[in-house]
Amino acid sequence: MITVVGASLAGLTAARELRASGVTDSIAFVGAETWLPYDRPPLSKDVLLESFPEPDPDANGTDPGATGLLLDGEVDTFDWHLGVAADGLSVATDGISVRRGDHCAVGPADAVIIATGARGRTLIGADLDGVHVLRTLDDARALAADLRRARHVVLIGGGFIGAEIASTARLLGAEVAIVEATEIPGAAVLGVDVARWTLSRHALAGVSVHTGAAVETIDGAAGRARSVTLGDGRILEADVVVVGIGSVPDTDWAAESGIALDDGFVTDAHGETSMPGVFAVGDCARSFDPATGTHVRRQHWGSAVDQARVVARRIAGLEPPPRRTPYFWSDQYGHRLQICGHIPVGVVPQVLDGSMDHGATQGFLAVFGDRDLPTAVVAVDRPRDFLRLRKTIDRALDASSRPVAHA
Ligand SMILES: Cc1cc2nc3c(=O)[nH]c(=O)nc-3n(C[C@H](O)[C@H](O)[C@H](O)COP(=O)(O)OP(=O)(O)OC[C@H]3O[C@@H](n4cnc5c(N)ncnc54)[C@H](O)[C@@H]3O)c2cc1C
Repeated sequence: MITVVGASLAGLTAARELRASGVTDSIAFVGAETWLPYDRPPLSKDVLLESFPEPDPDANGTDPGATGLLLDGEVDTFDWHLGVAADGLSVATDGISVRRGDHCAVGPADAVIIATGARGRTLIGADLDGVHVLRTLDDARALAADLRRARHVVLIGGGFIGAEIASTARLLGAEVAIVEATEIPGAAVLGVDVARWTLSRHALAGVSVHTGAAVETIDGAAGRARSVTLGDGRILEADVVVVGIGSVPDTDWAAESGIALDDGFVTDAHGETSMPGVFAVGDCARSFDPATGTHVRRQHWGSAVDQARVVARRIAGLEPPPRRTPYFWSDQYGHRLQICGHIPVGVVPQVLDGSMDHGATQGFLAVFGDRDLPTAVVAVDRPRDFLRLRKTIDRALDASSRPVAHA
């Protein structure tokens, strides 16, 4: 038997890949949410423009399908324990147990795949009505309802999710302000030039961005948010506040087991933790990255899928799948931004097509390093060219990581 803790993208992908690899053992999911696995990226995008249907009572509250977000495929071949938050992990002679209170959440397993993701960081004042984090379907339902009535929205944190919500809130007609601690939001991930371009999109859309700014307090009246006060005394009116200041990996539940933790479950390059037979994948995992020689916690859809496939094939005793370079995307102000590879610090990108001028609206294709075999690619509204270059990088990466065949 194999137990998967966390019923979402990474866990479901691992389970499906186990089946695709010929593993017939029973696979049990222990998931804290009551929903079957659903896709999170739409939650900060178009979904916020829609009215969420109420959960289908005939589906026992487990089916987010009515929202169109259900991650389809093979769910019937697994055993689901939903609405059950694991709170312990232990190893005995009969196997590895995932615990809930004094009991095993499911029977002892030969292998455990941890895929408990992360939760949004919060701030003091987050208990006021109108203050949101966005991580789950239920969070999105509550935020969508509030955004429809909002006149002044303040996003605390100018990362991807903050930028996507800002873009949606503008479409809904609200005044929007972003408060960001750094001088150029996203520069650490995108490099300074691309980050400046994304900053220019906020300006074009009429969103005010307060960079290098700290939040002092979120202030309310009668239990509801009214404004956000910055460290320098400025006051931003706010009937909706979204706190998007990063995430905390969901590891506390396993802390007493002695498993190695360091901003996530620490794993080797193949997803195995310090506890033999226990693997970690997705947003909760800090895995060894041979490309950089460091442990990295990636929080992107593509990384969750790639890590899950590696772990499933390892459990099945098969060769790992071809290696792929890190990839993610973001949808903001009608543009699709796609990024792959490792953006080198201080390197200016070459624009191969379109324009990165701040007033330009036609998008661009930009590469870092060699234009034929770049180390990283950033594309805005250039999906085909992006895919071609991404495949080139992936092929080179995989070839370089395979053992050399000797005659
Ligand atoms: C709003 C939003 C927008 C995003 N947009 C993009 C995007 O545009 N592009 C991109 O590349 N990526 C995006 N991402 C990131 C991507 O969705 C995540 O990387 C992906 O969901 C990670 O999957 P996961 O299975 O590791 O974790 P999660 O999807 O977080 O799932 C973890 C699950 O484990 C459960 N759990 C936690 N603790 C326990 C416990 N003790 N016991 C049992 N279950 C537990 C949680 O309740 C949750 O259901 C976005 C994420 C969010 C939240």
